[in-house]
Amino acid sequence: MNLLGARVLVLGMEKSGRAAAEFLLARGAVVTPADMKAQDLPGFCLQSEELFDEAWDLIVPSPGVPLDLPGLQRARGRGVPVVGEVEFSAPYLKGPVIGITGSNGKTTTTSLVGHILRNAGIPAQLGGNLGTPVMALTETSRDDQWNVLELSSFQLETVQTFHVDIAVCLNVTQNHLDRHYTMEAYAAAKGNLFRAQTAADHAILNADNEWCRGLAALTAGTPVWFGTGDIRDGAVWLGAQRLMGLAEIPIPGQHNAENVLAAAHICHLAGASLGQIAAAVRTFQAVEHRLEFVAEVRGVRYFNDSKATSVDAATKALDSFAGGLWVILGGKDKGSDYMVLRERLTARARAVLLIGAASEKIAEHLEGSVRLERCETLERAVLLAHAEALAGDTVLLAPACASYDQFQSYEHRGRAFKEIVGRLA
Ligand code: ADP
Repeated sequence: MNLLGARVLVLGMEKSGRAAAEFLLARGAVVTPADMKAQDLPGFCLQSEELFDEAWDLIVPSPGVPLDLPGLQRARGRGVPVVGEVEFSAPYLKGPVIGITGSNGKTTTTSLVGHILRNAGIPAQLGGNLGTPVMALTETSRDDQWNVLELSSFQLETVQTFHVDIAVCLNVTQNHLDRHYTMEAYAAAKGNLFRAQTAADHAILNADNEWCRGLAALTAGTPVWFGTGDIRDGAVWLGAQRLMGLAEIPIPGQHNAENVLAAAHICHLAGASLGQIAAAVRTFQAVEHRLEFVAEVRGVRYFNDSKATSVDAATKALDSFAGGLWVILGGKDKGSDYMVLRERLTARARAVLLIGAASEKIAEHLEGSVRLERCETLERAVLLAHAEALAGDTVLLAPACASYDQFQSYEHRGRAFKEIVGRLA
């Protein structure tokens, strides 16, 4: 579409909306930035029902904006294109594209791919849901450089023609049903990544996940399957070829072995040899706040999984260690059922250290399964573990709760943990 003089409403002024507004302005569009919260930007409008009914040539909603807003539906009814930032970028993005989606593991896998390609000397730039928005990446894209994109279901919801050479779905598990309403709709949003593929493309899919298996029908490309069947004899395998021993993978847990498998398939298709892939994985450092190794103090190892803000993610974290755990749980409850942690904690934890607003609820759910210590603050929890843990034990922050009762964000909580541990050493 000709953007010169086009009247464009950009909804949502976080990172992706700002990138879209800048991109459109640079091409001569008349941009109205809007948000529910007031912003100090030229031409800014507070989002209102009437705003949608003005004469727009295009509306670009940010990933966080629900597409079933009545105003958006009216605009669409009048024939106004409603196109998200990723779809809009399609004609401007040069070079081959890798799109990585899934309910869990997107950031880790995208970062792994970036690390492997960089180490193998294959040009690549990373972005999307992680880091730089796709629209901003168009400026630095080149024909001979891979675009490695982390894409959420929200970003994929308006995707129709966006073409990716290598499309990846790591897993689809229950998530975001407040936005997508049904698992079918949620999986269909992820499915949009595969619809524009051609016979020359590849779709990397998790063979163990029924929703991922269903996605194979949507692609015209070649499916490449990975799954727990490729983790055997203490190693990970690409088909019949042994990639590397599990013990050589520096990020713990079966889920991370699966992320390595997906990343290995991607990078192999992008031209890296198995030797290059294995060598790069060995030097990969966990993404901050995701089962990140912090320090060893008097033989006790400290791990920061502040990103484990749900019971499901905390479960994955617990499953990554054999035993001797001091687990810090708590924060702001999200209506979760913590009972499902009982068995694992009985088997692996020496104690649970409770912090924050959810302490009493978690204590009720865990009563009788494991030693419970009400510590209130992160600092007291770490100090108690430091005083009592034995050499060989592990102190794990995997709180299974949001952070907003005591912290600004999960990043803030994770940094606080690392700072406290830093003072022990
Ligand atoms: P995302 O970007 O999809 O949120 P991350 O890589 O940031 O994923 O990981 C978030 C959390 O999800 C991690 O702390 C970990 O507990 C869990 N996780 C990571 N990879 C997987 C996977 N392949 N399957 C299930 N859970 C995972």
